[in-house]
Amino acid sequence: MGWDFETEPGYQKKLDWADEFVREEVEPLDQLWGHETFLPRDDTKRRILEPLKAEVKRQGLWATHLGPELGGQGYGQLKLALLNEILGRSPWASHVFGCQAPDTGNAEIIAHYGTTEQKERYLQPLLDGEMFSSYSMTEPQAGADPTRFTCRAVKDGDEWVIDGWKYFSSNAKVASFLIVMAVTDTEVSRYEGMSMFLVPTDTPGIKIERNVGLYGEAMNEGFHALIHYDGVRVPADALLGGEGQAFAVAQTRLGGGRIHHAMRTIGLAQKALDMMCERALSRETQGSRLADKQFVQGYIADSYAQLTQFRLFVLYTAWEIDKYNDYRKVRKDIATAKVVMPTVLHDIAWRAMQVHGALGTTNEMPFFQMIHGAGVMGLADGPTEVHKVTVAKQVLRGYKPSGDQWPTEWIPRKAEAAKAKFAEYLEHEVGNL
Ligand SMILES: Cc1cc2nc3c(=O)[nH]c(=O)nc-3n(C[C@H](O)[C@H](O)[C@H](O)COP(=O)(O)OP(=O)(O)OC[C@H]3O[C@@H](n4cnc5c(N)ncnc54)[C@H](O)[C@@H]3O)c2cc1C
Repeated sequence: MGWDFETEPGYQKKLDWADEFVREEVEPLDQLWGHETFLPRDDTKRRILEPLKAEVKRQGLWATHLGPELGGQGYGQLKLALLNEILGRSPWASHVFGCQAPDTGNAEIIAHYGTTEQKERYLQPLLDGEMFSSYSMTEPQAGADPTRFTCRAVKDGDEWVIDGWKYFSSNAKVASFLIVMAVTDTEVSRYEGMSMFLVPTDTPGIKIERNVGLYGEAMNEGFHALIHYDGVRVPADALLGGEGQAFAVAQTRLGGGRIHHAMRTIGLAQKALDMMCERALSRETQGSRLADKQFVQGYIADSYAQLTQFRLFVLYTAWEIDKYNDYRKVRKDIATAKVVMPTVLHDIAWRAMQVHGALGTTNEMPFFQMIHGAGVMGLADGPTEVHKVTVAKQVLRGYKPSGDQWPTEWIPRKAEAAKAKFAEYLEHEVGNL
């Protein structure tokens, strides 16, 4: 029997250490530089961050998702899930532990498909947070439907020339390179005719037209770039994974990226639940604590139930990824976690905000940020609706039509079949009467 919900004691010790370390040493960074996780490090930041990262490495918790050949521990996704739910409390934590999105996904692409030179140049600095990367797939006229993508890459001698527009390329303004999806063959379907390229951001012809901000950020000073690729020339080895392989390459990144977001969301939703419970125990109104009001008890119970179901499902999915070592085999469950994630965070953060009254709605508490984050989660890496379609298609693969006009479970036919199956005994019973 392999169904076991216990963490091995040695790793649990590490998790306990990580929990205290994140609360005491890392969360204060969120107060100092909350929105600066992807800004180039200055000397002050390095002086604070380097000893923290060194401590994480000493504890054997650096880049746990990667194998030792890439500087990680090779612990796999389940152990990463248990760690990530701790890191989810703080935007800086994944940077201090060498597993920040979107760089982790892009690092996985380079690890799988990059040349030796590309690996040497990009992998370690990415993990060290000394270099950032961007994934450039969505276009202004098409996000969820890649068949409408038009950004082209055309071969010219030994080079490729990229022309077109991309939208919401996160962190492009600080990235050293972009991973760009482009149409290389218009004669076949987009699923077979698109390829992936590694493009250094200083290549001539790359123009960031806008840095789109999210809610609350200053206009045009955000991190999500609208990019014009105008005759951008890259060498043949910029092509990752071969011509027409864009979706296979993307899956390497997106499968991991989606489940990593889900793991961190557990931590963030737990933080909201913690705050809800603390407030419920601290505040009194009309003769009793909020914790004694049945409505508030309902919020707490619903939140605990939602979070626990989600957590177990994410851990199970991580276990599956480790077992099959192939994201495609776990597609249904990764998509299911992606579908559930925004609702879990939204619902728990919303209830926590409500329990805090007016204070909950202010910029002195983090609830609205969490709720906005839930909205983003329903879109980034693909909208919820599209992932629901994936889940439904995968679920339906396990079924077949009933074969005639009556459902298999139609009771009259089943009752007849049951009588026929036991006819001998039933006749005997009648004979004994
Ligand atoms: C914070 C953030 C960061 C992002 N970072 C990146 C990044 O780094 N790189 C990158 O390439 N992209 C990035 N994206 C873009 C993201 O991948 C797209 O927003 C997403 O794929 C949806 O595309 P769209 O916004 O064009 O919406 P559309 O494709 O226009 O869809 C809009 C809505 O239509 C509905 N819809 C769409 N398709 C279907 C369908 N098949 N069935 C039913 N309903 C449907 C859904 O309600 C959907 O939300 C990011 C997005 C956000 C919000």
